[in-house]
Amino acid sequence: MPGRGVAHRGQQGNIEIMIDPFGRSISYLRVSVTDRCDFRCVYCMAEDMVFLPKSDLLSLEELEKLCLAFIGQGVRKLRLTGGEPLVRRGIMSLIHNLGRQIGHGLDELTLTTNGSQLARFADDLVAAGVKRINVSIDTLNPEKFAEITRWGRLDQVLAGVMAAKNAGLAIKINMVALKSVNENEFDQMIAFCGEHQFDLCLIETMPLGEIDQDRTAQYLPLSLVRARLNRHWTLNESDYATGGPARYVTIAQTGQRLGFITPMTHNFCESCNRVRLTCTGTLYMCLGQDDAADLRAPLRAGVSDAELADILAEAISRKPKGHDFIIDRDHKSPAVARHMSVTGG
Ligand code: SAM
Ligand code: SF4
Repeated sequence: MPGRGVAHRGQQGNIEIMIDPFGRSISYLRVSVTDRCDFRCVYCMAEDMVFLPKSDLLSLEELEKLCLAFIGQGVRKLRLTGGEPLVRRGIMSLIHNLGRQIGHGLDELTLTTNGSQLARFADDLVAAGVKRINVSIDTLNPEKFAEITRWGRLDQVLAGVMAAKNAGLAIKINMVALKSVNENEFDQMIAFCGEHQFDLCLIETMPLGEIDQDRTAQYLPLSLVRARLNRHWTLNESDYATGGPARYVTIAQTGQRLGFITPMTHNFCESCNRVRLTCTGTLYMCLGQDDAADLRAPLRAGVSDAELADILAEAISRKPKGHDFIIDRDHKSPAVARHMSVTGG
């Protein structure tokens, strides 16, 4: 049984917390609310992606019930992702319901989005209690944006981002670093983020899921990017940490944060406080491992809250020490078969 250990339940004040066998308290749940998306980013999906049958998906009520069970067990931060979370029909009702938990166990409800639907939803997100969102933009060049996302339009995304800014949401831009594609655009993105007071996070490509492209050709180590950025920007070490995989610096010239997510070059697992729930109710204890717990079957069998809490504790006892990403250089096959859009980025 991979990585099976002993999980503990602890108490923080009156609140239950789940502690994994390596002493990490699990306070962060990322939920992929759909595997579908209105874009087909080249590093994320094949153009002819086959999506899950709708009957496999958890209903919004089931997703809510699971989220509430996690909050009951000490999860304080929820991030909704996908696929594209804002293309799931009725998603705002889930967001409003979860938003009501803020201050009642939940500290924060956030979202990672491609921004295409933000112009429609920004005000509603704020009304639901969302304060910060991550928006993925890999380039500010409209043609290149269309090439990377295949189906996306930069002007629509930028309009969404500006609507989110005007609604009062704090914004972090996620930019996947792609060799020979956007590697000359980091300075421009830093300046754009500085102008709008957005934080920026650079991400190395991760070998998740079959795509119709060569992954080794896309991979750009951020150690190299950082060395190049040092020529133009003063990057001051920052102790800002989200418990996530990003290491942050502050850019002296703009005052904004810059994060580096480097799964391939830096082992970020020791401080990992998160688990991931898919839209079919599968709980992955690690983005880079296949071991999982099925929560849908017990949920549909009508388990009690106490039984659900036991199932979560058993799953957490299997959280592995770390991931195992390696690009298979000869066969170019992914280290993990499921796509990022299944587990959620
Ligand atoms: N659709 C939303 C979006 O694009 O922000 C949320 C889901 S997307 C899977 C979450 C994040 O994962 C995005 O920032 C995306 O760029 C990133 N991502 C997707 N596939 C990736 C991969 N293979 N390696 C690294 N990052 C990836
Ligand atoms: Fe869709 Fe996000 Fe994947 Fe792009 S990265 S295809 S926007 S899920």
